[in-house]
Amino acid sequence: MPEVQKFSYHNHTNFSDGKNSLEEMVQRAKEIGFTEMGISDHLIVHKNICKSPSWAAMVANNEADIYQTDFKTMLEKYQRHCEHIRKVAKAENIKLYVGFEVDFFTYDGWLDEFKDFLAQIDYDYVISGNHFLFDPSCETIYNINKSIGEVLTLDQIRALVAQHFNNIRESANCGLFRFVAHLDYVRKMGADYCKPQDFWAEKMAVLDALERHHTGIEVSTKGLRKINDFYPNGTILDEVAKRNIDVVISDDAHKVGELGLDFERAEQELRQRNVVHRLKF
Ligand SMILES: [Zn+2]
Ligand SMILES: [Zn+2]
Repeated sequence: MPEVQKFSYHNHTNFSDGKNSLEEMVQRAKEIGFTEMGISDHLIVHKNICKSPSWAAMVANNEADIYQTDFKTMLEKYQRHCEHIRKVAKAENIKLYVGFEVDFFTYDGWLDEFKDFLAQIDYDYVISGNHFLFDPSCETIYNINKSIGEVLTLDQIRALVAQHFNNIRESANCGLFRFVAHLDYVRKMGADYCKPQDFWAEKMAVLDALERHHTGIEVSTKGLRKINDFYPNGTILDEVAKRNIDVVISDDAHKVGELGLDFERAEQELRQRNVVHRLKF
C-alpha cells in the first residue's frame, strides 16, 4: 500500500455550496490526520449569468447565491472570507491555504477584471474548475447538466464540449492557476456527450498546455461518487504520466464526510498509471 496523500486542496465550505462551516471542515481534517489543507470555495463571476438558459435550474437547485455578475460587488465578502481562513488557521494551529475554484470565462474584459480582483485579496492559489459550456464569445453560458439537452441539440452540445476543452486549455495558458480540476467533468452529462476517448486531440492540447505552463492537474475522487470513475479517466492519466505534469489527489469535498474519501483508491490508480510527479504546496 503506497503512502496516502494527507491533504486536500480542493474542497468547499458553506461560504459557497458546501454543507459544513470552515471550522467543521478543519476539525474533520485534523481528525483524519491531514497535515495541511487548502480551502477552495467557488468563484463564479459572469456578467450574464442570470440570463443563462440554465438559470432557472440553478435557482431550483439552490445554487443561485454562489454566482455573481461582477467582481466589484463581491470583493468585500471575499476579502472577509480570506481573513476568516487566516484566523482559523492560527486558532486551530493547522496550515491552511486560501484558494478558490474559478470558472474561467472568455468574454472581453473578464480576465482583466479577474486579475484586478486577485490583486485585492489575500489568497494563495486558484484552481481552474469549469462547470459551464459556451462558445468563444462567452455571452451565453450553459451549466453542465443533463437539462442542456432540453435547449440544445446533441450536435450543438458536442460542438460546445470541444470548445470547453479549448477553454480549459486557455485557462492553463494564462498561467494563473496552480492546477486544473475535474478535466472531463462533462462526462457527468452522459456518454452521448463525451466518452473517455472523445475529443482526444482537445484533451491532449490541454495536457500540453499544462506541461508548458507548469500547471498541475487533479485526480478527483468526486468522479467515483458521480460516474463511478475518476475525473479524469485513466486513459488521460496515462498521458499525464508521459508528461512533466504534477498531479494532486482531490476529494472536492462538499461536506465533512467527503474529506479524504477514496484517497487510497486514487493512490493505487496513480501508481498503476505510473504517475510520479506529484503536487504539494
Ligand atoms: Zn468543480
Ligand atoms: Zn469543487
